[in-house]
Amino acid sequence: MNAEIIAVGSELLTPFRMDTNSLYLTEQLNQLGVEVVFKSVVGDDLRNLVAAAQHALFRSEVVIFSGGLGPTEDDLTREAVAEALGVSLRRDAEMLTHIEQRFAARGWKMSPNNAKQADVLEGATALANANGTAPGQWISGKFDGRERILILLPGPPHELKALFEAECRERLRAKLPPAFIATRVLKVAMLGESHVDARVAPIYKSFADVQTTILAGAGEIQLHFKSRAQTGEAAQARVDAAADAVEEELDDAVFSRNGESLEQILGYWLQMRNTTVAVAESCTGGLLGERITSVSGSSRYFKGGAIVYSNELKTELAGVPADMIERHGAVSREVAAALAEGIRYRCEATLGVGVTGVAGPTGGTPEKPVGLVFHALASDSGTEVIERKFPGDRKRIRLFASTMAMDMVRKKLM
Ligand code: ATP
Ligand code: MG
Repeated sequence: MNAEIIAVGSELLTPFRMDTNSLYLTEQLNQLGVEVVFKSVVGDDLRNLVAAAQHALFRSEVVIFSGGLGPTEDDLTREAVAEALGVSLRRDAEMLTHIEQRFAARGWKMSPNNAKQADVLEGATALANANGTAPGQWISGKFDGRERILILLPGPPHELKALFEAECRERLRAKLPPAFIATRVLKVAMLGESHVDARVAPIYKSFADVQTTILAGAGEIQLHFKSRAQTGEAAQARVDAAADAVEEELDDAVFSRNGESLEQILGYWLQMRNTTVAVAESCTGGLLGERITSVSGSSRYFKGGAIVYSNELKTELAGVPADMIERHGAVSREVAAALAEGIRYRCEATLGVGVTGVAGPTGGTPEKPVGLVFHALASDSGTEVIERKFPGDRKRIRLFASTMAMDMVRKKLM
């Protein structure tokens, strides 16, 4: 079954508010085996809302409206849907009492326009809203000869969620043939998107029934798998088979098999190996430490470290010899290694990490261009340095560098 979501509200067309209700609804619908095929955001305008409702009812089997059920002039969802369906609105006595009681319970005086919130489409079931005044509405039947389910929900996210869970989920399930959707997410570190794409394309071909999506970020690629079947087990088996095949192809570049973040996985490995880590950061300016400590419980394996932006502090806090910086430059293989070794020694950590590079946009030279970063990892078996030239702006380069450094530690521990 296919669904369409219409988020109503002029504020959602400004740069200040985002439609998050449709993300929640999409997740809920997918869990029921319902695919969302259209999504739109429509401002508080009667003509546009009527047109949106007509289009949606023509092409989608389930249509869900979010918002525009308030008491004010610009809340027009009820009126627009009534017009699109060609039905009238009736004032629901029970809902009116519910609204009056809500006001009375708070000792507020109800203004007359609030009564409008008890207006229900002819033929619809009013869905009591435990967290607000506007009830939701459910109407199903044949419209223009097509079997349709239409649901109106209030815009405030906590009201919409509670109403969907209490009143819509089971009603929808009862209308659906049994279908289950399973999903998996694999995450890959430090490989290019086109490179990953080329390697997994043949596998995707052999899993035609599994829907796949590739999402790329700085140093991280997410591979999403989705499958639909008549039982949850069957759907899960298909996404697992596809994900396993991809994992086998990409091998240890896959750091997460169930959507965990690199920070979480790093924490997992550090604890598993009973290891501690310390960092000396130049171009990442603390980002690496920030990311590692974003995981609760990271005090068990993260010792700390130093942000050594100036040459003096590289020497003073991480013990990098001043003449080494003089000779090779602060952005160099040698200094990265010395940072990692120095911070490991001073923090008494099992592993030391050093990062130094040119984040840009200024400061690049022909020999040391913007994006050049040296990552070093020191352990009792020696020091390893990886040199990379990252694309993008300052923010992206720093993100890449911190991901690379974390991934080096992960690979070392695996
Ligand atoms: P009411 O006016 O009674 O609160 P309503 O159904 O008319 O209910 P709106 O006025 O459209 O709801 O929205 C109320 C609040 O909910 C606003 O803060 C709005 O930004 C937020 N909101 C509305 N729609 C969405 C959405 N799709 N995603 C996230 N927030 C939303
Ligand atoms: Mg609104």
